[in-house]
Amino acid sequence: MLCELEEPWTQFLEFAQQKCSSAEFQNWLAPIKLLSFDEKEVTLEVPNIFVREYFLDNFKEVLTNFIPSDSNGESSIQFVIAEPEKKKAPTPLPSTPTTAKQQTNPYLIALNQQYTFENYIEGPSNQFVKSAAFGVASRPGKSYNPLFIHGGVGLGKTHLLHGIGHFIKGHKKKCRVHCITTEAFINDLVDHLKNKSVDRMKRFYRNLDILLVDDIQFLQSRLNFEEEFCNTFEALINSNKQIVITSDKPPSQLKLSERMIARMEWGLVAHVGMPDLETRVAIIQHKARQKNLELSYDIAFYIAERIHNNVRQLEGAINRLSAFSRLMDAELNEDMVRSILSELFQPPSQKKLSVDSILKSVASVFEVRVSDLKGDSRLKEIALARQVAMYLSKEMISDSLMKLASSFGGKTHSTLLHAWKKISKELQSNEILQRQIEITKRNLEA
Ligand code: ADP
Ligand code: MG
Repeated sequence: MLCELEEPWTQFLEFAQQKCSSAEFQNWLAPIKLLSFDEKEVTLEVPNIFVREYFLDNFKEVLTNFIPSDSNGESSIQFVIAEPEKKKAPTPLPSTPTTAKQQTNPYLIALNQQYTFENYIEGPSNQFVKSAAFGVASRPGKSYNPLFIHGGVGLGKTHLLHGIGHFIKGHKKKCRVHCITTEAFINDLVDHLKNKSVDRMKRFYRNLDILLVDDIQFLQSRLNFEEEFCNTFEALINSNKQIVITSDKPPSQLKLSERMIARMEWGLVAHVGMPDLETRVAIIQHKARQKNLELSYDIAFYIAERIHNNVRQLEGAINRLSAFSRLMDAELNEDMVRSILSELFQPPSQKKLSVDSILKSVASVFEVRVSDLKGDSRLKEIALARQVAMYLSKEMISDSLMKLASSFGGKTHSTLLHAWKKISKELQSNEILQRQIEITKRNLEA
């Protein structure tokens, strides 16, 4: 029966295939199965709600052109969410709190008490990711799922992850939150494999409400574990449980299976960057206050100018100063700070790098004029090149946004931030742009 009726569906798929990229087709349309098809109703099986949403947003109208409509000119599309792969008898939820306790996982990571949202200082490089984290913590499973946070070492990814954990524990006491590093997940799995108790582990993970996974890059080249992780991941997402993942790279740059990468891109991918000078000053002041260390604005600024690789190093500097000032019982001045911290100070980053050199490099790669980049033309090619130059300035030069923006013919810092966000997002999927930016950067380093 289905065979005959399948024809319009096959035609639809052929049509859709021409309308989207092959990756898009593989990720979103190929996994959909036709269950039934008649004049009144089409029933589709989808692996999860994201595929359903994607389909409704992008292909609902198209499909209706391929199926006969009823007398009202309407046709209805029903969705069934597929059961997770290996179908097991449903495991009852732990009925009493004691059962839940028995399932306590030895690899559970205690949340660092300091890593709260209150202690997280915001600035242009992390505002977006911070509000995404806050959104997820306020409405777990209902906003972005998964939330994927990526960025370099010591920039606050773990801090945000634990921040989500603290917030949920404080506001939704019944939620089962589990925070784990990827290494710990693998070790947990190895233990359960040895003890032939993998089912118990699955039950534990699948009964969680929120899974926070730190440093997913360690899943790379761990093929067997990747599959199990992916299954857990899908099981949770399909039942609207929240997942948050951190990584040192965006999903597309991780050496993981396409399936895993696609899953991680389902929700929101957010980047955390190095805080700009002003935010670094605020972080130093905040950390100093926490340690009861008196530090003038000028000294905080002096340190922030000289430590610009990551926040962990800023923290190291404060710890050192705090120990010193306790020992010496002396008020800190600039000379003392210089001698205590001299080995931590880094040479000014990219000494010669200026907005002007970025403008020149972008202009040559994107074949536009420098004056266009500073101007107001909205011509597509020029606007894109200008946004790339803004993006690179923010990424590569640690001046305030205001100062950077003023080098673009007096634009505002919010224009620059908007450009940075847009290009960051675009870079996740646009390979040509990735290549162009790589070339621009290489020219700058030459
Ligand atoms: P990552 O996981 O990205 O390597 P962490 O989350 O471990 O980095 O952060 C390193 C240290 O820097 C932590 O002590 C954290 O509290 C601090 N830190 C990072 N970003 C911020 C921020 N925006 N505000 C306050 N502290 C921060
Ligand atoms: Mg970390």
